[in-house]
Amino acid sequence: MCAVSWCSQSEKMEKPSVKGECLCGTVRFEIQGEVGNLYQCHCSLCRKVTGAAANAATFVDAERFSWRGGEGAIRSFVKDSGYRADFCQHCSSLVPNPLRDTDLVWIPAGLLEDSKNLKVVAHLHTASRADWDSCTESAQTAQCFDSMPDLKALHQLLYEKG
Ligand SMILES: [Zn+2]
Ligand SMILES: [Zn+2]
Repeated sequence: MCAVSWCSQSEKMEKPSVKGECLCGTVRFEIQGEVGNLYQCHCSLCRKVTGAAANAATFVDAERFSWRGGEGAIRSFVKDSGYRADFCQHCSSLVPNPLRDTDLVWIPAGLLEDSKNLKVVAHLHTASRADWDSCTESAQTAQCFDSMPDLKALHQLLYEKG
């Protein structure tokens, strides 16, 4: 067997990866292996930054995350409280950002190109959701948290299979 065909065969056996990009396609990234399930945060900050009832996101280990382009187009907004939103300077899409003091990268779910096996398993800050937010009706298969749960516990929940 020639070395070339062995190479291409072993490439095929690599773990699958999931790609994502912003609205304009400038900021691109890739996640090796499995992407965790999703949570939606209903806090007032996430509401403003998305303009929607809640954001949908997950975390991945930093070692499985890599940029594929457009890092120079990323701008950051940081509130005094430490709340941070990274976004594409061209199209304003929220883009992944490293979670401070952790080895995790925050991933906005809407940017993922393949999300067919993902589901929302947790709703955060439901106590401060908007009056018009109907999250409780759609949350029967997910856990709800009045505020922010322990990050480790949340990370575990996102990667639980079932
Ligand atoms: Zn963009
Ligand atoms: Zn939030």
